[in-house]
Amino acid sequence: MPDDEPPSAGRAGLPGERLLVEAIEAELRAAGLDPDLTDDCGRPPGPTALVTTDALVEGRHFDFERDTPEQVGAQAAVANLSDLAASGGAAGWAVWDLTLPARWDLARFRGVVRGFARACAAHGCAIIGGNLTRTEGPGVISVTVGGPLAGARPFTRSGARPGDLIYVTGDLGDAALGYLEPDPEARARRHRWRPHLAEARALAEWGRVSAAMDISDGLAIDLDRMMRASGAAADLMAACIPTSAHYAARRGRDRRVALTGGEDYVLLFCADPGHDPPDAAGAICVGHVRPPGGPRLRLDGEALRPEGHDHFAPAEGR
Ligand SMILES: [Mg+2]
Repeated sequence: MPDDEPPSAGRAGLPGERLLVEAIEAELRAAGLDPDLTDDCGRPPGPTALVTTDALVEGRHFDFERDTPEQVGAQAAVANLSDLAASGGAAGWAVWDLTLPARWDLARFRGVVRGFARACAAHGCAIIGGNLTRTEGPGVISVTVGGPLAGARPFTRSGARPGDLIYVTGDLGDAALGYLEPDPEARARRHRWRPHLAEARALAEWGRVSAAMDISDGLAIDLDRMMRASGAAADLMAACIPTSAHYAARRGRDRRVALTGGEDYVLLFCADPGHDPPDAAGAICVGHVRPPGGPRLRLDGEALRPEGHDHFAPAEGR
């Protein structure tokens, strides 16, 4: 943590940088982490094979009217750790850059740090450094994580072959329902997300994954991306797409939210049909890969548009 900004207690609702760094260290210790934020650079705890970065922007990815600071901090960790899982990685380390608006206060700041620290600690991810910046604009939580491979090689999106089966590692749609349904139960279920690192490890050790990614923007749009990368096409079976009892109670057999909602943070992967995935992966078959030609995606034989959350689409953000 650089200390290049003089303390400015009272300014803009947040104390000066030194007190903020002390608050971070206290929250990390409370979460069971052992932070050493003294030096200019952090030291990764072991070998790093994979690195990814992702940012959450206030007003676009989170909103304190609907999410608690702890939930926002946790999501910042989960979104990044899920990408490590998607590439066949294991949790190693995280650094983050917090851009703090004038209107935030210390309680909100500590809540974000607490949620982030607890999610990292729960998955064995060290927090080895960061940076603090003030802004007149929205809050931005930018996170970079890295780690070793869970198996012998990384997963890629480009290896799916015709005949492969398509799997997901958990229920879809609950996170998106939390936006669409106003009641507290739906809101709370949105935050049950977790990175599927254990599933990724089981699949990496199995060694038969041909292509993988995580579902962060929605099954349809993410499967479309995988099929584009693989030069293939996919057939999905609606009845096989897994949803929770909570989802079924609100949407019945209508899988549209499960197909397009996003923020599920489960793994999407392909493998040849001759071998069942390990039980620890919790894999559910939702379709199969076919050769290119015709619509890239079909659902029960009908063309399926690759709709989902696209950060650069002109529609409303969330
Ligand atoms: Mg991803």
